[in-house]
Amino acid sequence: MEAENIDKTKEKSLNFIELAVSEDLAAGKNGGRLSTRFPPEPNGYLHIGHAKAICMDFGIAEKFGGTCNLRFDDTNPVKEDVEYVDAIKEDIHWLGFDWGDRLYYASDYFPKLWDLAVRLIKEGYAYVDEQSSEQIAEQKGTPTQPGIESPFRNRPVEENLDLFERMNKGEFPEGSMVLRAKIDMASPNMHFRDPIMYRIIKHPHHRTGTQWNVYPMYDFAHGQSDFFEGVTHSICTLEFEVHRPLYNWFIDRIADESYRPRQLEFNRLNLTYTVMSKRKLLQLVKEGYVSGWDDPRMPTICGLRRRGYTPESIRNFVERIGYTKYDGVISVSLLEHSIREDLNMNANRVSAVVNPVKLIITNYPEDLTEEMVMDNNPERPEAGTHTAPFTRELYIEREDFMEDAPKKFFRMTPGKEVRLKSAYVVKCTGCKHAADGSVEEIYCEYDPLTKSGMPESGRKVKGTLHWVSVKYAHKAEIRLYERLFDVENPADEKDRDFRELLNPDSLKTVTGFIEPYLADTAKVGDRYQFQRIGYFCVDKDSDSNRLVFNRTVSLKDGYKPQQ
Ligand code: ATP
Ligand code: MG
Repeated sequence: MEAENIDKTKEKSLNFIELAVSEDLAAGKNGGRLSTRFPPEPNGYLHIGHAKAICMDFGIAEKFGGTCNLRFDDTNPVKEDVEYVDAIKEDIHWLGFDWGDRLYYASDYFPKLWDLAVRLIKEGYAYVDEQSSEQIAEQKGTPTQPGIESPFRNRPVEENLDLFERMNKGEFPEGSMVLRAKIDMASPNMHFRDPIMYRIIKHPHHRTGTQWNVYPMYDFAHGQSDFFEGVTHSICTLEFEVHRPLYNWFIDRIADESYRPRQLEFNRLNLTYTVMSKRKLLQLVKEGYVSGWDDPRMPTICGLRRRGYTPESIRNFVERIGYTKYDGVISVSLLEHSIREDLNMNANRVSAVVNPVKLIITNYPEDLTEEMVMDNNPERPEAGTHTAPFTRELYIEREDFMEDAPKKFFRMTPGKEVRLKSAYVVKCTGCKHAADGSVEEIYCEYDPLTKSGMPESGRKVKGTLHWVSVKYAHKAEIRLYERLFDVENPADEKDRDFRELLNPDSLKTVTGFIEPYLADTAKVGDRYQFQRIGYFCVDKDSDSNRLVFNRTVSLKDGYKPQQ
């Protein structure tokens, strides 16, 4: 059904990027070739925002018969790691995309970038600046005020070449000098005010080891890397729009008229009740606010996967929100809608009681067990059925009973009838209280003629409750997730540290009871609908003694047992 959904949206009119690409193809640009790339920096795990970029980069190549490279923009060894490289690859594959044999690294191009830098020095387009980064920042000026030229700006070419060589040999400490492009300190585009091309970093790189002591800045590596790879369309988010003239300026130094990448920008994804900055996500992990990058409350791909999201639900979500030129914040309920829609069709229904209280059917034989037939998925009859043992003592949800209920309460209350799902109609006769006043046991009587599926079973009652047999129940750990943040848009709260905005109740762990069919069949990663409660999936913390379930999402209009 997801495939069908994706197909349906394919009939939608082209978005502005698809339109631009199809026009270039129709005009025979680049010999009719389409080559895109997804260029993550391996300094963190991918999040749902990256999924939007991935669906564009890989999706558009698929749609128009092109190819998409995966390129790691690994220009800062201090923050980068192979752990991230491996996780990024896994997540892209999980989303359903593949780069084939086109896996690249910006570090592959370090020698070429070095040669280009040397050439720019020789042509008078670059110089070594011995000022501190603070001094350089102070001289930048403002968009309406020109910057100040560095006193090192006009040093001779030979001196620049010598210093740049020695920077790379490791002769100078980090921060003591940088290589800057010599462009225009008065340009209205701040990125043209002699941007830094190289800085000294003496930290080993995850691929090139200690070969280099200078590393190109992202802005000096990214555009040329696209060029070196023959990328025809460099699709990225809006914040790079202002970098585009600089990328073009660098590429002008190496390209002729026949080919250059065309950069196109779209709006980045922001979601309510979460943060999307890798720096902040890293902080949450490092400081232990969450259990890891794959904590099911994280907006990371691996977090969503562990939470129970499917790749199809994420791709459908991205299709729905679309690509525009306007930044905004998308409601997380739209993402939740996508997974509900998927699981409604594809998750088997099972019985689990999350907040249990005992129900005793006083007129039901003590030693009798009946196997009741349960539909696996009423949306898909072909999903079949399973059976659940029914006995005299059952667990039901505490919230399904009220001693003094208002008129419109159609669940269990003394004197009224309800149906126990796929079993009998029962009439509540009362309850017993514990010393603290809470309800300890509920009593009822069943009517044997109302057995589900029997000819006389059609008694009209308003409520149907789920249940699990006390005798056959298995215990399970159930993790109930709420939003990670208390405020709709944490990024908007400029005067407060984002960590203060975390929701202290974003995880509540309870012990519930599940039916034996579920206990016997559940494997890590399996997804289910707990009837009347929500969608849950089996967590990787499960082992042979203990099943752990993550709540993916509650049922939309359904009954919410715990808030
Ligand atoms: P950083 O803050 O470290 O630069 P980043 O989120 O930009 O982080 P990258 O690894 O540079 O991370 O991102 C790879 C690609 O994903 C970029 O092309 C970027 O435009 C895109 N991307 C990142 N965040 C989003 C987002 N929220 N929505 C859409 N695309 C995004
Ligand atoms: Mg980035």
